[in-house]
Amino acid sequence: MKTIGILGGMSAASTQIYYRTLCEMTQARLGGLHSPELLIRSLNFAEIERLQMADRWDEAGARLNREARALQSAGAEILVLATNTMHKLTEHMLAGVTIPFLHIADATAAAITAKGLTAPGLMATRFTMEQDFYIEGLEHAGLLPVIPDSTDRTTTHDIIYDELCKSIVTEKSRATYESIAARLVDRGADCLILGCTEVGLLLNTGNVSVPVFDTTMIHCQAALDLALD
Ligand code: GLU
Repeated sequence: MKTIGILGGMSAASTQIYYRTLCEMTQARLGGLHSPELLIRSLNFAEIERLQMADRWDEAGARLNREARALQSAGAEILVLATNTMHKLTEHMLAGVTIPFLHIADATAAAITAKGLTAPGLMATRFTMEQDFYIEGLEHAGLLPVIPDSTDRTTTHDIIYDELCKSIVTEKSRATYESIAARLVDRGADCLILGCTEVGLLLNTGNVSVPVFDTTMIHCQAALDLALD
C-alpha cells in the first residue's frame, strides 16, 4: 500500500472527515486490522483564510508548495489536497513535486461522466463557483455545470466559512442548503456536486432529489484506489 500525503486543515473540519473516511474505506476493502498509510499535514486555516480574503494567492501558493514538498520528502507517494478551493493554486503548489497528484475536480468529473450525467449543480465557496480554475476543469470533461445565482452563492459561501469550517452544523442551514440545491435542480441540474469538502455535513443523497457527488468521498476513494493499485 502506498503512503497517501494529505495536505489539509482547510478546514480541519473536513480533514477529520478525510481521515475517518480513508480508515473506514481501507477497513472495508482489506478487512482485519488494515488501516491506510497516511501522512497528514494540517495547516492553520485562519492563516490560509487571511491570505484568501486579502487576495494574496501567491503567498498561499508558496505555502502550499512548501508543504507539498515537505510531504514528498517525508515519504508521501501520492499527494491529495483536501480542499476544492485551494486547487486554484495547483500549478504553483506542484512546482518540484514529482509524486502523483490526485486533482479533486478531475476525480469528481470522472465519477459524474461514468454515471452518464452531464449537468451538475455546484455548491462550493465563492472562489470555486465563480472562478475558471474549477468550472473549466468540469467543462473540459464535457460537463455543463449549473451555478447558483448571486444571492445563493453568497449564502452558500458564508455558511461554509461561518459554520461548516468551524464544525457548526445547524438545521436552519441544512434547510437553506436544501432549498439552494432544489433551485439548481429546477434550473436543469441532473446531479449535484458538493464542491467544498465540508458541504457533506449538510447535504447527502437523503435530502437532495438528484444524485449527489460528494467531492470528499470521491477524493478519498480515488486516493485509496491509487494507493492500493
Ligand atoms: N474546504 C473548502 C473547499 O473544499 C473550503 C475551505 C478552503 O477555502 O479551502 O473548498
